Amino acid sequence: MAITKTDFMRGMQCPKMLWLDKHKPGLRVIPPEVQARLDAGNDFGDRAMSMFGPYEEMTVYLPGRRIPDKKAMLARTAEHLAKGTPILCEAAFSNYNNYCAVDILRKVPDGYELYEVKNAPEVQEQFVRDAAFQYYIAVRCGVKIPRVFLVLHGPDEENPFLPVEITKDAKGLYRWINDHIWDLNRLQKEPQELPVPPGDQCCKPYECWYYGYCHGAEGTP
Ligand code: SF4
Repeated sequence: MAITKTDFMRGMQCPKMLWLDKHKPGLRVIPPEVQARLDAGNDFGDRAMSMFGPYEEMTVYLPGRRIPDKKAMLARTAEHLAKGTPILCEAAFSNYNNYCAVDILRKVPDGYELYEVKNAPEVQEQFVRDAAFQYYIAVRCGVKIPRVFLVLHGPDEENPFLPVEITKDAKGLYRWINDHIWDLNRLQKEPQELPVPPGDQCCKPYECWYYGYCHGAEGTP
């Protein structure tokens, strides 16, 4: 695989973060509160799958492991798109090996609407970029995506799934994504560690899991 959605988001925060993910992932230190937030996000995402009613989930795991079998997911997604399944969850797409899995695709008369689920109360720029990356890959795979939404955590806990349309902003990032995805592909394969000095990017938009490594708290890079 080349660049995944997660790779793109992390590489755009800091290319060294992406490089370390590929070459020295054992140096990551994920704070417990961050792990708890990720787990809560996954739980919210799982619950959101049924927000439009019955759905087909595209997730396939490698035999005996909790690791997604991307090849099988791509095949399963293609099969369901071909037969016009109304709601696909974790629909997988690959373009020149760049990969993403879309939280929810919902069939509408003019194509499929794309929904990215976020366990957060309001739109953030990185959420829009995240959805825009998926839009970019899915469109390049030939899927017609007329509209893009974030599904936020609304105030009604009985029905917390709050779609917010971001079509214009997501489509507006298409060229920006195309301008960077190939650079990140190249940078992640560099044999030497990227010489990126620590800076504002170490905490924005997320605190980096290599913070201790790069700032010398857990050894000198
Ligand atoms: S700590 Fe800062 S410089 Fe080091 S990988 Fe993370 S974001 Fe990049």
